[in-house]
Amino acid sequence: MLLKKLMAILMGLGGLPGLSGGVQAARPPQPAMDAPGECRDSAFLQQHPLTETLRAEPFVIFYTRSGDNAPPLEDTTGSGTPDYVKNVAIQLQAANQYYQKMLRLTPPLEQPRYRLAKAIHVYLFDLPRGNGMAFDEVTRVKGEDGNWLPCALTIRISSKLNQPLNPTPAHELFHLYQYGYTQFKVGWLLEGMTRWIESAYNGEIVMSKKLQARPPLKGAELYALRYSAWPFWQRLAREKYGTVTLSPELEAVRYLDGNPVFRTTTLPGGEALEPLLTRLQELSKEQSRQANLPYYQWPEKLQQSHQFDDVICQAMEGIECSR
Ligand SMILES: [Zn+2]
Repeated sequence: MLLKKLMAILMGLGGLPGLSGGVQAARPPQPAMDAPGECRDSAFLQQHPLTETLRAEPFVIFYTRSGDNAPPLEDTTGSGTPDYVKNVAIQLQAANQYYQKMLRLTPPLEQPRYRLAKAIHVYLFDLPRGNGMAFDEVTRVKGEDGNWLPCALTIRISSKLNQPLNPTPAHELFHLYQYGYTQFKVGWLLEGMTRWIESAYNGEIVMSKKLQARPPLKGAELYALRYSAWPFWQRLAREKYGTVTLSPELEAVRYLDGNPVFRTTTLPGGEALEPLLTRLQELSKEQSRQANLPYYQWPEKLQQSHQFDDVICQAMEGIECSR
């Protein structure tokens, strides 16, 4: 552990000057196209002391029992861990199985982009805004004992979600899956696709009559949307791809109060996710090569840029994109 840390420091400094045969005015080497970037240090746990943890592979859930950041502390099983925290773990692990086994997606920790990360850290606290956030960059934090924890992906979840649990943890986890595949972070793709996936936890999301009567979303009208772009993804998936059916094991997963995690046993068009995300992965790499930019090190502004909207849309096989 210590040796690894020392090596990391040395590598970060570009090696020891005294050992490398003197100072040379060498230019920093160009990072390889598939370099994973760096695992940045984060002071998050110093700013938000979440002193308790629940380990639920591959997740480590951090929370506190005191102050405004504490979740509801009811512990009906007498296990020593609040129900709220356990329910978050139950949803995350079930969602993780669903994405891997049912949707056949590669988990973020197995993606080349995230090869530095060893876990997914989930911070439960009183978020100032919204219910959750998922970060696409890997970080390492200092634990309670002052030691650095292994590099990790990070999700932040509100400690004040309604019960039975809404699908925020599963929603944020799906973002990590998306990040593992692609650098594109435009809202109509990121949030639209994820809102559609929430069908698994909320029950099939249905278009209103008004929406059904309108022509399909496309072009600038589509690209300006975020969550409400879900009908685009639902329609695309249903028209061209098969239905995913929940396994009996996942169907049986319950929160501590007996409510099921999944509210529907089928996701029509669910077979679309793996080919669509794989295509987006290829497309990200194509754009990287054109810009001579390492695959996983796009500046945030570029990731969120709308300059790729038509390219992304056109890659979705035969869908009419422009107006
Ligand atoms: Zn989201």
